[in-house]
Amino acid sequence: MLKAVEFDKLSIDITETSEEVIYRFVGDVDESFRQKDVPRIKKKKITFVLEQINNFNSCGIREWIYLVRDISDIGSLRFVQCSVTMIDQINMVPDSLGKGTVESFYAPYYCECGGEVSRLIHVADSQMDLQMRHAPAFKCESCGRNLEFDALEESYFLFTGSEMQRAS
Ligand SMILES: [Zn+2]
Repeated sequence: MLKAVEFDKLSIDITETSEEVIYRFVGDVDESFRQKDVPRIKKKKITFVLEQINNFNSCGIREWIYLVRDISDIGSLRFVQCSVTMIDQINMVPDSLGKGTVESFYAPYYCECGGEVSRLIHVADSQMDLQMRHAPAFKCESCGRNLEFDALEESYFLFTGSEMQRAS
């Protein structure tokens, strides 16, 4: 079963199974986004797929926080495949995650041979690194060298730490 909600710059595809509902977000969360128009579907597991979230503005983020707060009360909310934009947003405004948890996210790396690449990190597989705010190691697919992390580790991995949870 597939539903879709469309705004000016954002579309949300909704898929349901018996136990889970998956919301896939594509586009920008801006002033055209109305959280009230997003159907609340009562399931044990609620998944947000966020690899194609490109931008948030201040009107959009206010609506987003309402949505996340509301949906967190319905079931157990997890964020998967978070884009770099989504992670930056969570680090700046921890309420963007609400009671949700990040299961996987993209992180920016680069290699001298070919420039920027992003890599998907599964939180459960990289807990040791993330707790110490270290970027997990990846090899370049073209030249085999280690990729360099392309952001500040302390800030980019802030959301994985317990300090932020205490502060929020
Ligand atoms: Zn390389």
